[in-house]
Amino acid sequence: MNLRADPAVARGQVALVTGASSGIGRATAQRFAAAGYRVAVNYATNAAAGEALAHRIGGAAFGCDVSDPVAVERMVGAVEAVLGPIDVAVCNAGFYEERPLEEVTDELWDRTLRVLLGGCFHVARAVVPAMRARGSGSIVAVASELALIGGVNVAHYVAAKAALIGLARSLARELAPTIRVNIVAPGAVDTPLLPDRDRGPVYTSTVPLGRIGRPEEIAEAILHVAEAPWTTGALYSPNGGVVIQ
Ligand code: NAD
Repeated sequence: MNLRADPAVARGQVALVTGASSGIGRATAQRFAAAGYRVAVNYATNAAAGEALAHRIGGAAFGCDVSDPVAVERMVGAVEAVLGPIDVAVCNAGFYEERPLEEVTDELWDRTLRVLLGGCFHVARAVVPAMRARGSGSIVAVASELALIGGVNVAHYVAAKAALIGLARSLARELAPTIRVNIVAPGAVDTPLLPDRDRGPVYTSTVPLGRIGRPEEIAEAILHVAEAPWTTGALYSPNGGVVIQ
């Protein structure tokens, strides 16, 4: 299947990528731009990185904390005004803090759920009405392989990512056949979020394919599920073979 030849792509559709000023989000914004999309580059605080990337890929940058529902509504309105209707929304924004259970504060627990789960809920709720009205749309939630297998000192993170999978699967049913919703659940990927420990041989020797992932590999997976026409509610986990199920 040659997705790049899809005439819908050639029409220059619009993709919104949250948390796009670094890591997987940046690679995804670049990949969608290369595929012909006009890309809305969302950033939380790093305006310089967001603007520079948007400039480089011919998109536009939009500052917004995805945990703030009002700000997300405003951002989606601004994206539509500047770039046009949103065809694809990639819920990628996130952070990762390891903390044993007894040290997970109420603040960290709330913030984790607000950003990782709430962020995607806010984006989906904001983009869906226009997608429904136009009769098509695609949403991709970036979860984590840890949501499939659990992790030590990350119960808060895993709980939010597992709930994100539940959110996306339910929306896939609720919004079909007009809007497709899929999940990419990466394994360890070489971005600023990854602890240094997981770059070393102690960890990589446990990965069947012998290395951590590259952001570009996750971006490719995100583009693929975003465009796959007969796929909704799917969970695709590029993880080097760590999770095989
Ligand atoms: P990253 O730190 O490079 O990128 C995360 C981006 O999200 C940053 O640009 C950050 O500013 C942004 N962000 C954080 N909170 C935000 C908020 N409230 N509003 C808007 N933007 C916000 O890390 P990454 O590895 O590229 O992470 C991208 C996604 O991939 C995250 O959801 C992460 O949980 C997930 N993930 C990463 C890995 C990995 O090993 N790197 C593995 C599995 C899943």
